[in-house]
Amino acid sequence: MYPLVEDFYSLQGEGFHSGMPAYFIRLAGCPVRCAFCDSKQTWTTEGYPRLSAQALADRAARSGAPAVVVTGGEPLIHDLTPLCEALHAAGLACWLETSGSQPLSGQWDWICVSPKPGAPLQAAFSRAANELKVVVATEADFAFAETCRRFFQNDGIHAFLQCEWSQSDTMRQAVIDYILQHPAWRLSLQTHKYLAIR
Ligand code: SF4
Repeated sequence: MYPLVEDFYSLQGEGFHSGMPAYFIRLAGCPVRCAFCDSKQTWTTEGYPRLSAQALADRAARSGAPAVVVTGGEPLIHDLTPLCEALHAAGLACWLETSGSQPLSGQWDWICVSPKPGAPLQAAFSRAANELKVVVATEADFAFAETCRRFFQNDGIHAFLQCEWSQSDTMRQAVIDYILQHPAWRLSLQTHKYLAIR
């Protein structure tokens, strides 16, 4: 049974699948506790309804979505193998959003790792990840981003820098300039926030 914060059908707003329709399953619980977290209500698992993998897959399948984004919180504090099995059985692609700081479970069609300072990456992600997304709030985060990129052994990984939302006005140009000078990176925008969609 998984503690569910919310689930809904929308467009993926950021990163590699930006603009693509997907069903979001936001699970409760996160031990990472970033200062800039915009989902602080997900840190605890208390008070949320608990749904089975099959119930979650049924809800996602009813939406007509082609894919499901499993996010949090940090979804990997839960064993996600049963959830992936149920989603795949329902014909849905499984995309994971994780900090990469917890043991990997589940079979994934796409893994996006968004590392956080102070939450060391698990070795399993160095080859399993498809996408690296680093949130940039200060100049120091560029060095953190490069440290993260060196961790990944997957040469085909898609590497994104994304301004921390509250710092967008001050850091946007610095991120653009950095990418121009370091073209291994691409820009990720939180388009759902610019468009005020869920
Ligand atoms: S890892 Fe994600 S959910 Fe957890 S505190 Fe950081 S931003 Fe929030």
